[in-house]
Amino acid sequence: MATVFDNTGKAGQGGDAAPARVRHPEKAHRPDQPVMRKPAWIRVRAPLSRAHAETRGIVARHGLATVCEEAACPNIGECWAQGHATFMILGEVCTRACAFCNVATGKPAPPRPDEPEHVAEAVARMELRHAVITSVDRDDLADGGAAQFAAVIIAIRERAPGTSIEVLTPDFRGKAGALETVLRAGPDVFNHNLETVPGLYPSIRPGARYYHSLRLLERAKELAPGVFTKSGIMVGLGETREQVLQVMDDMRCAGVEFITIGQYLQPTRKHAPVRKFYTPEEFDELAAAARAKGFLMVASSPLTRSSHNAGADFEALRRARARTASGA
Ligand code: SF4
Repeated sequence: MATVFDNTGKAGQGGDAAPARVRHPEKAHRPDQPVMRKPAWIRVRAPLSRAHAETRGIVARHGLATVCEEAACPNIGECWAQGHATFMILGEVCTRACAFCNVATGKPAPPRPDEPEHVAEAVARMELRHAVITSVDRDDLADGGAAQFAAVIIAIRERAPGTSIEVLTPDFRGKAGALETVLRAGPDVFNHNLETVPGLYPSIRPGARYYHSLRLLERAKELAPGVFTKSGIMVGLGETREQVLQVMDDMRCAGVEFITIGQYLQPTRKHAPVRKFYTPEEFDELAAAARAKGFLMVASSPLTRSSHNAGADFEALRRARARTASGA
């Protein structure tokens, strides 16, 4: 009998059935990490609505992936009930292996040439006013997947011209010209998450470099000053308050206008453990600190995620910029 690992990272017996895909082969033999009990304020809505089923149907009909499902996002019940989903392009398999992420790792398939049309069609069918497009890391591709991002943006512009577009990209590390390719296609929001404080990169985001990610955000603003820039971090991984405040300062120096701060939740026992559950009051306190540092928009709460309420936040961001420009 084959020993398989399910999504919780626990070993089980495969029997005669085909072995389940190991989502995180690099983590399978790591020791189990302790799991902290979730506090009462981490409550999520069960994904049972009719709108949820319709969203699932559209996503499945177009053969698309969503980060909502692949990352086991706690907001899926709420977002999908409202017909919001975040599309994850370039496949469901990531070439990195971050210690916090539930997306499967391994060797990905080549990009689908028809993916841009399918994403655009799904956006139109779902009547999205604001579409959020993200992807897995594609270190195996010469451009890191930048051309596919650009093709998706162009396809959405043609099929759903009234829809604003936000891209949440990988860091494109070592891929010259990738950022330029994405920005030339004209997204409304360029989002790249720093994820955590620099001191935790070696253990939490070992395939990435903090200052590279920061520079990516800064260059996005330099290359396309009209595009809103956005970045986010998770808290609860062992960072200090001072380190979080320093990340805020770094983001502001890079011209980032919108910061998202949410609670890290441990996907499986093989992932990095939660070191602390911040209270809602602590998130409010971080939000106040971020506002004082000059961000145009701040989203900070236990269940804040990059794409949560992204449409409404984009409208608020536009209004905030207009107010700043008029000096109101
Ligand atoms: S917060 Fe983002 S990833 Fe999570 S369910 Fe909503 S749209 Fe999907």
